[in-house]
Amino acid sequence: MPGADGHLLINPYGLTYREVTASNLVKIDLDGNIVGPSEWPVNAAGLVIHTAIHSARPDSHCVMHTHTTAGSAVACLRDGLDWNNFYAAQIYQQVAYHEFEGITVDPDEKPRLIADLGTRNLMILRNHGLLALGASVPAAFTALWTLQRACEIQLAAQQSGQPLRPVTEKAALQSPALFLAWAFTSLTVGVAILFVSCAFFDRPKTLPCLLQNDCRALSGTLTPTSPFCSIPAGASASARAQ
Ligand SMILES: [Zn+2]
Repeated sequence: MPGADGHLLINPYGLTYREVTASNLVKIDLDGNIVGPSEWPVNAAGLVIHTAIHSARPDSHCVMHTHTTAGSAVACLRDGLDWNNFYAAQIYQQVAYHEFEGITVDPDEKPRLIADLGTRNLMILRNHGLLALGASVPAAFTALWTLQRACEIQLAAQQSGQPLRPVTEKAALQSPALFLAWAFTSLTVGVAILFVSCAFFDRPKTLPCLLQNDCRALSGTLTPTSPFCSIPAGASASARAQ
């Protein structure tokens, strides 16, 4: 969090996503201890993953972890993610893997998780789910969304029963470069649009909530008004599947 090195925000345990708001996020330190008052506990299984990454990767201002059906299914495949679809090609060779060691409640797993992640921003937790991190909420969300789409397309293609057509090495290597350029441009344009929106509208309700939070933080008017908003922008934050 700004001005408080070593503190981050994480989902309260026991609430659905509809009930999570900016004001009931739980502030914790990098050892997983709750800092200050909180009406809710935190999920011990989430602490290991999120505190490990926030401790080792200071560039990770937002860490997202999900158990979507498509993501968890690909995580169960022996060979993991194929690079042969449009979305997977955009993250070619950018996905790390970490072996399943059971529910992530043992702090001893942290060094292995961090070693497997390395400098990458995407990870498939084998037999478990997906993980993405970024320097901002939009960056982490975009990365996770792309990985999620890659998993969905892969499963759909495999379910056809037809032989899968690989992409060429040239196409695979070209896609990530364009993806990064697109992501940077989109983020720059998106922030500019949000600044303009904030200047003219007190509450840009038509914008996705995560972007609203970034918008309000940028304009200094962050207030916890939406039940779907879970991450106050400007803060280090973590979101995980309940
Ligand atoms: Zn999990």
